[in-house]
Amino acid sequence: MSVLINLHSHLEGRVRPSTAADLAPALGLVDPPEGWAAAIALDAPGTLTQYLVRVAATYPFFRSAEAVRRIAREAVIDAAASGQSHLELRFGPATHADDANGIDEIVRAACEGLRDATAITGISAGIVLAALRHHDPETNELVADAAARAAGSGVVGFDLAGDELLYPALEPHTGSFAIARAAGLGITCHAAEAGPASAARQAVELLGATRIGHGAHIVDDPDVLAWCADHGVVVEICPTSNVFTGAIARLDQHPEAAFRAAGVPLVLGDDNPMQTGSDLATERTVLQRAFGWQDDDLAALDRVSVAAAFLEPADRERLHSMLS
Ligand SMILES: [Zn+2]
Repeated sequence: MSVLINLHSHLEGRVRPSTAADLAPALGLVDPPEGWAAAIALDAPGTLTQYLVRVAATYPFFRSAEAVRRIAREAVIDAAASGQSHLELRFGPATHADDANGIDEIVRAACEGLRDATAITGISAGIVLAALRHHDPETNELVADAAARAAGSGVVGFDLAGDELLYPALEPHTGSFAIARAAGLGITCHAAEAGPASAARQAVELLGATRIGHGAHIVDDPDVLAWCADHGVVVEICPTSNVFTGAIARLDQHPEAAFRAAGVPLVLGDDNPMQTGSDLATERTVLQRAFGWQDDDLAALDRVSVAAAFLEPADRERLHSMLS
């Protein structure tokens, strides 16, 4: 039996357009003339910078803790409804915090929404808090502190997200990742998505990442590719997202075959399904139809996913028991 495990998905990429329309009046937002679904969705491939603008269209809905709780709850409910058994939801709380709602309040609201939904759906879920590349180290350390406080209450991991084109440096973020590692959180990092292969190795060596988000350019450097395989670095692939961000020109240029030939373990995510229109089930179909994956290939993906997910032992055992 296959088991749908979503290990790269952004909370800001799972806001229902109907919820946006519901929340807009109370937040003083004017409905866009084309409607919220079109305002959030991407209509054509572009650059990572253009992609992130559409993701940011959802940011106003994260101003209220109650809205964050609802968005997180609905994200897990939607994932369960589409057949997912486990969902890691990532977001950068510092973007959404203000005087009324601090980082801890926003994180707590997301954790509450997660717990509400896992109780309803029976699936498991965890939150990966993201430091952001364009934020200063002090702000990202505050996020790491909040992540450490919420470890065991819903937060399971720490990530670095944002614009790798405009903010490629990883050195400024070593402090926040040290805090997250000390708290026992799983470590991942968006790297080599828009930047070069060496960024992925740096993320492992400087930040302690065991997983790399996207990593599409790792295959450009055979030495880094081999190094990632040797070190068991898990790459979270999100093929459709890579087309929209311009990481690859077309789906058939996705480097999954090079990763697999080199022995790099892969897991799957849907990144921002409301923006790309492709959720995890569709991404799995992409693996089969566009890349020719067979049942054995998907079974290997599932095994790696269960092993690499940031999970409590009981949840990992539950997912493990679902494997064929
Ligand atoms: Zn991402």
